[in-house]
Amino acid sequence: MKTIALVAHDGKKAEMVAFVKDHKDSLSKAHIVATGTTGTYVRQTGLEVELKLSGPKGGDAQIAALAAEGKVDGIIFFRDPLGKHPHEPDIQMLMRICDLYNVPLATNPATGGLILDGLLASL
Ligand code: PGA
Repeated sequence: MKTIALVAHDGKKAEMVAFVKDHKDSLSKAHIVATGTTGTYVRQTGLEVELKLSGPKGGDAQIAALAAEGKVDGIIFFRDPLGKHPHEPDIQMLMRICDLYNVPLATNPATGGLILDGLLASL
């Protein structure tokens, strides 16, 4: 089973929930892991979600560790380009780890949809 990680900053959580609803059929075929607050929102769609810590409390770092260990197939990370974040170093680290290990990373819904299509459509 493919593992998809979901992370959304506060200004993007509504967009993440809408994205998950739009792609619920394909996401239901995946194991979903998410940072704490994002995952709590996503659970409201009825999908099962493994919750990590909240992003600012180390959740982004936990997702990055999964990527480094080859335990995540794709990451959908809706960053808020208008916000300031106390955990900016962790955000940069997550993106760096994705590039280091060639893990598909989407930072907006358009690319997120392409990742899900690529990883899950044929299942
Ligand atoms: P959250 O973390 O889902 O716990 O809000 C996301 C983030 O801010 O990186």
